Amino acid sequence: MDKEHIVIIGGGACGVAAFIELFVQLKAGGHEHKVKITLIEPDEIGKGLAFGTSQPGHLLNTQADLMGIHASEPAHYSEWLKSRSHEVSSETIGLESPDDAYSTRRLYSNYLQEQFQHYYQIAEASGAAPTIIHKQAINVVRADNYWNILLDDGEHIPAAYVLLALGTPKPDNYPELLGIDNYIDFPWPSQPILERIGKEDTVGILGSSLSAIDAVMTLVDNDHRGPIHLYSPDGMLPRVQSKEDTKYERKFLTQSAAHQIKRTRLRSPRVTELFRLFRKEAEHYNGTTIDWQNTGRTQKPAREYLLDDIRIAQTGGDAFMNILYALRYEAGTIWHWLSVEEKKKFKRWIGGYWTRNRHGMPLANALRLQQLFESERLFVHPDFKQVEFDPQLNQFMVKYAEHTDHVNYLINATGPGTKIDQMKSTLIQNLRQATLIEAYEPGGIKIEPTTMQVVSNRAIQEQLYAVGHLCNGMLLDVNAVWFNVKTVARACKHMLTKATGEHYA
Ligand SMILES: Cc1cc2nc3c(=O)[nH]c(=O)nc-3n(C[C@H](O)[C@H](O)[C@H](O)COP(=O)(O)OP(=O)(O)OC[C@H]3O[C@@H](n4cnc5c(N)ncnc54)[C@H](O)[C@@H]3O)c2cc1C
Repeated sequence: MDKEHIVIIGGGACGVAAFIELFVQLKAGGHEHKVKITLIEPDEIGKGLAFGTSQPGHLLNTQADLMGIHASEPAHYSEWLKSRSHEVSSETIGLESPDDAYSTRRLYSNYLQEQFQHYYQIAEASGAAPTIIHKQAINVVRADNYWNILLDDGEHIPAAYVLLALGTPKPDNYPELLGIDNYIDFPWPSQPILERIGKEDTVGILGSSLSAIDAVMTLVDNDHRGPIHLYSPDGMLPRVQSKEDTKYERKFLTQSAAHQIKRTRLRSPRVTELFRLFRKEAEHYNGTTIDWQNTGRTQKPAREYLLDDIRIAQTGGDAFMNILYALRYEAGTIWHWLSVEEKKKFKRWIGGYWTRNRHGMPLANALRLQQLFESERLFVHPDFKQVEFDPQLNQFMVKYAEHTDHVNYLINATGPGTKIDQMKSTLIQNLRQATLIEAYEPGGIKIEPTTMQVVSNRAIQEQLYAVGHLCNGMLLDVNAVWFNVKTVARACKHMLTKATGEHYA
């Protein structure tokens, strides 16, 4: 009997999670001979954009007990750290309580690679004949009743099932600057920053989120001494994650409260209604009313908010962060209940605040930024307007508020493209042109979330699945491993049920 062929495109965290989930389920059910698994990844497996960095200052932005690569074992990574605490102590902050520890992302990649190798070798030994192809997939086309994957060297790979685990493509938002030596279009990998920028140079960074902080850490971890300027429309830095995960029992902003709106009004909940529940929750958390006019983060410079946030993080966090972290496992369902218009409204109105509170920076990096502010080496500028390159001066002119700065080098750290037409990927653009994938207005592509199968032209693209950033509009927490591995497991169960006729739970 011909084996069913499952191909995973992308060998980052999601690709690794998919390979392991598929093989463990097959092996545990005694069906490993019914399915062949192939992983296509041009680079090393278990790296990817998120965890492929070699920089010591690039830390996980999630505590260890949420980084397990096995969907049913979120704490597997913190257990892994505990079991080798001596080896990992130099790469881990807060190892005295491993569940709340923050390790370097390069150590996490070691964990992913070790996990992958372990199951890959068992799969090989058990005759499941897994395959790794170190090439780029550039297209996937439907052929009769299977998918044909075209690789960058012209090779074709036929597959019954295809999982798109493509990660986080570069944004395509400053094409006019491409080709200018002093312009670096993405903070990762770090080489262009290290090879091109001089230690004393004045550096401009577009963006002030976690991506921008990665760029700052790359510079200062490699002895950069020149001034670093961050430019963004809101001039907000991510908040600071509290030292320990503070548990909080929500009373108002809950899935059942959102469902009550849906059930009693017989329509999707609205962002205004959810925000009202959030305000009630925050005042309940604080035990007093809040002056909401004063909760914006634009009244004072980012460096002053950072001092507040460090103090708050060292004392267990505050209502805004702890409520949103406590909402972690229900936020995805509530997001799913929002209409397209309400999702777009959410991203426009409170998207920035949600991201800054929900994806804070580790305390260790916050303390390093504070030192850079105090030594007058770091500056954050709100109200960014535009940037132009002046070839005469060989400098960039960055306009913000009433000012124009001149910087020697410019790093684009505005974060990954969220709309598929902004995603720099040959495969994604080919699938888009062939209308095999379809843009979802709030971002990413359309999928059927219970199976993770791709949807386009009002039809499910049978046995073509997508996970991770590509689903950033339909799903909420695609920038978190704990969430992505659950969606990976959902896709794998659907694939295996179809491929083997067995039921997988
Ligand atoms: C800088 C950064 C830091 C992050 N830190 C954290 C964190 O600390 N904690 C957390 O939970 N989440 C973090 N995230 C979110 C992260 O995106 C998710 O965790 C995600 O699960 C990462 O895995 P991935 O496989 O989706 O993406 P990636 O790690 O980007 O891997 C995607 C892989 O697909 C490959 N690929 C892409 N296109 C093709 C193609 N056409 N053919 C073949 N291969 C292809 C790429 O080479 C890459 O190896 C971070 C994201 C970024 C960008």
